[in-house]
Amino acid sequence: KKITIAIDGFSSTGKSTLAKQLAKHLGYVYVDTGAMYRAVALFAMQKGYISSSNFDKKALINDIPNIKLHFEFNADLGFAEMYLNDSNVEKEIRTIEVSSFVSKVAEVSDVRAKLVEQQKEMGKNKAIVMDGRDIGTVVFPDAELKIFMTASAETRAQRRFDELEAKGDNVSYEDVLKNVQERDYIDTHRDDSPLVIAEDAIEIDNSYLSREEQFAAVLELVDE
Ligand code: C5P
Repeated sequence: KKITIAIDGFSSTGKSTLAKQLAKHLGYVYVDTGAMYRAVALFAMQKGYISSSNFDKKALINDIPNIKLHFEFNADLGFAEMYLNDSNVEKEIRTIEVSSFVSKVAEVSDVRAKLVEQQKEMGKNKAIVMDGRDIGTVVFPDAELKIFMTASAETRAQRRFDELEAKGDNVSYEDVLKNVQERDYIDTHRDDSPLVIAEDAIEIDNSYLSREEQFAAVLELVDE
């Protein structure tokens, strides 16, 4: 039985949609590790450690012990929401502002070390679906099933733009595309755990797959 499922890939490839669907269907716990990096980015913003003009890495590193992250399941939403120092930040971490800083924060090795440790702990003795960038390579190298999701930057930017627009966020498609490309670049070029496909991962390019088609394809892999 596949009890640890790692879903990695580029931003806005629909990893979390797929992971949530799978977890619900299988009765597994779902963990969105991007939310954890986003919460750390929000913390850094709130403390004034990061802005569009500066990034005080040292100050953030010194303050890492004061970052407490946890998830709480929301039955109405059907998934767990992110909490930063006991306040619900699920909405705040999804803004374009947080998106624009998160990859810089995720480059910091001490941040990664803390989050990876917590993620490993969450997967102990539990059936779990976890999505992120380094799940199949760093967090759960022994995962029974590893999926790596890709789609063209334009397809991903369009999806993200539609999502933000539906929420009433006033952003342009060009800005979203730029953000997607910037995050791809930083995620694939950082020194610590850059985004790479695990040797034993199965790659799914979903540029031309519907959610349903993709889900059906992955379920077959789970049943194998
Ligand atoms: O998945 P999501 O797009 O919400 O992740 C936000 C950012 O957090 C990514 O662009 C990446 O920089 C970082 N991240 C990471 N490692 C993970 C999950 C997310 O570096 N496991």
